[in-house]
Amino acid sequence: MSEVLNVEEIFASNLFTLGKMKERLPKNVYREVKKVMDQGGELSLAAADVVAKAMKDWAVEHGATHYTHWFQPLTGITAEKHDAFVTHPDEEGRMLMEFSGKELIKGEPDASSFPSGGLRATFEARGYTAWDITSPAFLKEDATGVILCIPTAFCSYTGEALDKKTPLLRSMEAVSEQALRIVRLFGNTEATKVVASVGPEQEYFLVDREKYLKREDLIFAGRTLFGAPAPKGQELEDHYFGTIRERVGAYMKDLNIELWKLGVTAKTQHNEVAPAQHELAPIYETANIAVDHNQLVMETMKKVAGRHGLTCLLHEKPFAGVNGSGKHNNWSLGTDNGVNLLDPGDTPNENIQFLLVLACIMKAVDTHADLLRQSASDVGNDHRLGANEAPPAIISMFLGEQLEDVVRQLVETGEAAHSIQGGKLLTGVSTLPDLDKDATDRNRTSPFAFTGNKFEFRMVGSADSIASPNTILNAIVAEAFCEAADILEKADNFDAAVHDLIKKYMTEHQRIIFNGDGYSEDWVKEAERRGLPNIKSMVEASATLTTDKAIRLFEKFGIFTRVELESREEILYETYAKTINIEALTMIDMAKKQILPAVVRYTKSLADTVIAVKEAGADASVQAGLLNEVSGKLAEAKKALTALEELEKKAAGIEDQKELAFFYKDQIRAAMDALRAPVDALEMLVDKKVWPIPTYGDLIFEV
Ligand code: ADP
Ligand code: MG
Repeated sequence: MSEVLNVEEIFASNLFTLGKMKERLPKNVYREVKKVMDQGGELSLAAADVVAKAMKDWAVEHGATHYTHWFQPLTGITAEKHDAFVTHPDEEGRMLMEFSGKELIKGEPDASSFPSGGLRATFEARGYTAWDITSPAFLKEDATGVILCIPTAFCSYTGEALDKKTPLLRSMEAVSEQALRIVRLFGNTEATKVVASVGPEQEYFLVDREKYLKREDLIFAGRTLFGAPAPKGQELEDHYFGTIRERVGAYMKDLNIELWKLGVTAKTQHNEVAPAQHELAPIYETANIAVDHNQLVMETMKKVAGRHGLTCLLHEKPFAGVNGSGKHNNWSLGTDNGVNLLDPGDTPNENIQFLLVLACIMKAVDTHADLLRQSASDVGNDHRLGANEAPPAIISMFLGEQLEDVVRQLVETGEAAHSIQGGKLLTGVSTLPDLDKDATDRNRTSPFAFTGNKFEFRMVGSADSIASPNTILNAIVAEAFCEAADILEKADNFDAAVHDLIKKYMTEHQRIIFNGDGYSEDWVKEAERRGLPNIKSMVEASATLTTDKAIRLFEKFGIFTRVELESREEILYETYAKTINIEALTMIDMAKKQILPAVVRYTKSLADTVIAVKEAGADASVQAGLLNEVSGKLAEAKKALTALEELEKKAAGIEDQKELAFFYKDQIRAAMDALRAPVDALEMLVDKKVWPIPTYGDLIFEV
């Protein structure tokens, strides 16, 4: 019998929840905190002191010794610097643990070593972290002990955002303000804000840690840079939703417990399409908290893997030839009085508010398809987007039969008289219930799919922060709402005006709707005919941040300044070049020190065999043929290795970051592929006993 898990008790045990604040804070302070949380504004220092003390007491009761301002610099991961609650001892040498309101609210990490894209010269090192009161503090337990983590935003001395959270929070305020104008038009006077909700489904791979440690490419690049396909891949479709193996199951159980403690609502777990690939999905939350929690999910996945002798790979494409990993970012907007703006109801054709919201989202996604695509790009995701396993790099919207039909009616006649209904699904078995059917089937190939009462943005990479996609979604929709509200608030005849506007937006932007197979070649051509952008790589997508259109959008809603956008673009180029450089150097290292020497040794043993067989008077043609084949591939590999080394030298001479990024994308990546091909061919020729690194078969089938 396994022990009984008390999930209700475990849940949020390491989270300083609102409930705990209510319990531990004087009423007036609690009220002040709640007000700032709900309506914004600043907490008084006196109140902050009280909160800090309560937070510290709670943390210390749970074994905490340190606190940290936990933030999300532009590295895409989180950062923390621990400070003990230790203070100066008194005369008698007694020390009291303390934590002040000032320490809670503001931190000052040295910012000089975080990416800033030229925003801040290294001599201007000051950076500030500011408490994000909307995301609760939590305790992290690991070998360091217990650390009180305070979610914070990270800004430069001159006030520019240096992180992912600040623009996200700005975008949430923008979309709330503009969405409120829309719901007010429809008579909702009660709502005081509109909240963006996000539920990210996270895919990941697990490999055996011992084997992982034998592969430099996994260690340095997080993905395999060499590797011939195993005899079996995912073609039998036997892994997806398959029975979870014991070792993986034990990992998932542990992972859930750790996440529940942090208040992360880990809900769904299953095997994914590729062997050794899995998924975890939490229940959706406010965008801000969902982003924080997704960072914790990724971090915890890696941490817990270690305990099970496993390594968790979050890279978008750890293995060639089988599916890579992504993140489905489910997004919706809801008022604080419980109305989901994306809920069409049973008869969407009669739901005018929904139709206006839908029309605005169509307009937003069509107008800023480039930005949305950019928000889902990172170095690893270049291997997925546009390849036939992930959404294409082209942004389109899937609405499903029911809504597509409503849109068509509106565009064609200006009226939508009816909605297709789901009806009953007859199981044909008397003991099985007949099921109510959704009005729309699913579509798995669309990058931006309507799924009942939310949109599912499916392009995001598995290793990426979801802050950028949600910042962009909020921003572009805020703009569309704003433009609609500007028109409708002035209209003399609201009903007529809203009717015309929905028809106008839907007509102008219907090209963004696509319900067919997003993986097909036909769609690429059709999209081109429609004039939809097809931005093929992260490097090419980076410039979308600083088009006039983008700067106008972000500055209008105070989400990014031009300078912040320029710096972010610069960081993307740097990140790309640095990442591919690491990959190239890793390949060179592995080829030179492991693979080629092993193959050279193998050719020697083959040559010895040929001689010995000949001496014995037998036919050595098979051995000699193999030797020739291996030697040929070896020569090819050596040539490609030298070419890659030459290009790396050339890259070192390029100063301009954008030019360098393009050089890595166009030249180095091709040279890496050219080196990989003969090495993978050699792997198929050479005795497994002499192959120096674990193979795909070892890595993905033997977890
Ligand atoms: P799917 O329709 O993709 O199979 P689910 O309904 O299980 O899946 O939801 C997938 C994710 O979407 C989960 O994280 C879920 O909490 C989240 N989700 C559900 N409703 C919403 C919503 N209104 N807004 C944002 N996310 C949502
Ligand atoms: Mg889904």
